[in-house]
Amino acid sequence: MFDPASRIQDYLVFGEFGDVNPSITDSSTYTFMSPELMEESFEHEIEGCFLYSRHWNPTSKYLANALARMEDTESAQVVASGMAAITSTILQLCEAGDEVVSAHTIYGGTYAFFKNFLPRLGITTRFVDIRDLDAVAKAITDKTRVIYCETMSNPLLEVADLPALSELAKKCGIKMVVDNTFSPMIVSPARLGADIVIHSLTKYINGTSDCVAGCICAGEEFVHKLTDINAGATMLLGPVLDSTRAASILKNIHSLHLRMRQHSENAMFLAKAFSDLGLTVHYPGLPNHPQHGMLEAMMNHGYGYGGMLTLDTGDAATAKIFMRKMQEEKVGYLAVSLGYFKTLFSMPGHSTSSEIPEDERLEMGLSDGLVRFSIGLDNNIEHTLQRIKRCLLDVGLI
Ligand code: PLP
Repeated sequence: MFDPASRIQDYLVFGEFGDVNPSITDSSTYTFMSPELMEESFEHEIEGCFLYSRHWNPTSKYLANALARMEDTESAQVVASGMAAITSTILQLCEAGDEVVSAHTIYGGTYAFFKNFLPRLGITTRFVDIRDLDAVAKAITDKTRVIYCETMSNPLLEVADLPALSELAKKCGIKMVVDNTFSPMIVSPARLGADIVIHSLTKYINGTSDCVAGCICAGEEFVHKLTDINAGATMLLGPVLDSTRAASILKNIHSLHLRMRQHSENAMFLAKAFSDLGLTVHYPGLPNHPQHGMLEAMMNHGYGYGGMLTLDTGDAATAKIFMRKMQEEKVGYLAVSLGYFKTLFSMPGHSTSSEIPEDERLEMGLSDGLVRFSIGLDNNIEHTLQRIKRCLLDVGLI
């Protein structure tokens, strides 16, 4: 069985003095022992030789290597945000006249990039219900370069059939790009056929909500293309991750497997409880989730079904009072983002998915009263449930 946690644990990098953590390279530029070597390094990458930190920094490389091991790809690059990972990848793969076929339910920022920004560069996107493989196949034309989806979609937690989508992409000679932000360790998209796997490291992978970062895990060839000094998207657009941040994320990643297990265990407990109370809850770990069986077939077992769940409160007014009460009850914070040790909750229709027009939101089942939870690492989840129940009672949902 593939074990992403052990793959990270077995990646040992010593610091300059045998430190148990790799030394942080606090430098934007690097000395060359000869002008010839400098010249050569502009022509091709030389192993162990660094040029300039927008290109590569040793500390960022350690983090990238750990992430490549986790996702089982040949290589990876770390960047300044999840959006930088998404935009650089798409801009590397597509040029004017090209098309993207994307899942309709994706993070609002990604949706806005596809819908509003890419057309300025002559790149158009066809949004499809990613669960409908016929619709995906029909949307692919000879101009399509990419199938794009999230393993578990934000915020509706629809699960994409990665092996089937990758088969389709391979048949059409196009790339499949998967955002795996919601399910690190749980699903390994590259092992299921994805060509490129993206993460917003801001979320679970870092886990402490103290920085914004992203990564692109892919084959050597694609990462070389991204960092090419003449035409590489990350090299030329420059969304570089600072080395001190790379070092702190690398330290946090070593507890990711434990955190994912605990997030999942707590989310499962609450999802079951909400379901027993007759509430409208979406959680991929519940047997009645439409893609529960498919997820079971795709997942690395032992990390659970993730820490994200949604609860439909019916309407925006109820959702607002409910969330305010939950913050007063110290259930967690009324905040966007996810993967923090404390529970975070928000209303996607009025925040992280507000870029999607209301009619499209309603069509895809994203109601105005939907509350998205990123369930925390609570030690006493039964106690948390009692607090949430008080809030549910107050708003008349139970
Ligand atoms: N992908 C998903 C699924 C997200 O939820 C987010 C942010 O919420 C992003 C990408 C963007 O990541 P970042 O905020 O690190 O740019």
